[in-house]
Amino acid sequence: MATESYNVLLYYLYTPIEDPGAFVEDQQVLCESLGLRGRILVAAEGLNGTVSGLIADCESYMRSMRGDSRFSEMAFKVDAATEHAFPKLSVKLRPEVVSLGLGEEDFFPREATGAYLEPAEWREMMERDDVVVLDARNNYEWELGRFAGAVLPDIDSFRELPTWVRHHREELEGKKILTYCTGGIRCEKFSGFLKREGFEEVYQLHGGIVNYGKDRTVRGERFEGKCYVFDERIGVEVNEVDRTVVGQCLLCGVSCDRYLNCAWSPCNAQYFCCEACEREATGYCSPVCHEARIIGFSVRSTEG
Ligand SMILES: [Zn+2]
Ligand SMILES: [Zn+2]
Repeated sequence: MATESYNVLLYYLYTPIEDPGAFVEDQQVLCESLGLRGRILVAAEGLNGTVSGLIADCESYMRSMRGDSRFSEMAFKVDAATEHAFPKLSVKLRPEVVSLGLGEEDFFPREATGAYLEPAEWREMMERDDVVVLDARNNYEWELGRFAGAVLPDIDSFRELPTWVRHHREELEGKKILTYCTGGIRCEKFSGFLKREGFEEVYQLHGGIVNYGKDRTVRGERFEGKCYVFDERIGVEVNEVDRTVVGQCLLCGVSCDRYLNCAWSPCNAQYFCCEACEREATGYCSPVCHEARIIGFSVRSTEG
């Protein structure tokens, strides 16, 4: 077995950063000096990051961040890994660390956010009759795994969530709403949005699914499948109590959580595919893509 000499860190904090442009440069220099790779978004409202590196280098990074009074409260979720989880380092300046696309109606999550539930409180609350467990992530994320019984909005991007809520008010009205996401940052904003929309009892899973999976009491119980992550691992295990697979092979329907990218590059769709179908279909998500490749057909990508 390969040694787990690397860590993958996931972290965020809403905290005012006076000169975010200069802070981007500081982060770039710090991460380069430690050989870290990953993605860090910096805005005047805070920071959202995920990086990988050798254990000692990740520890230096966490020490350095905690030594900065603005980030002393930042919680890091730490995973062991056998290698880097990212191909390179990218540190970017953004208007917001996560965007719900609210434009003029936008707000700072420190002004309005849902009540935090720690993992054990969350597990207890989700069993009640008067709650709705609401997944705040995108469709390709919950297809790989989600909490049992959760409402799963069919959205491709976080910015579509406010519209989804406005079209599904009656499902949520009068219930306690329990929202969750990968590491918690999207729910800081989304639960605040729900409160501003007039929902009175709004809760968020503190630290998200990743923290829930690390909690020694709940051990990931009631989470089905894997947690989608935005790095080369794609999915990480959460439930140590009763593991299940929720994905299905796109080609034959067998229960499966292996992701492939369609071998026809203009499609490049990420899809579940079992090993047998991968051999048979040689990596194409559909006969259309296979054929397109053979006749050299090309289309413009519509992805922005
Ligand atoms: Zn298959
Ligand atoms: Zn395809």
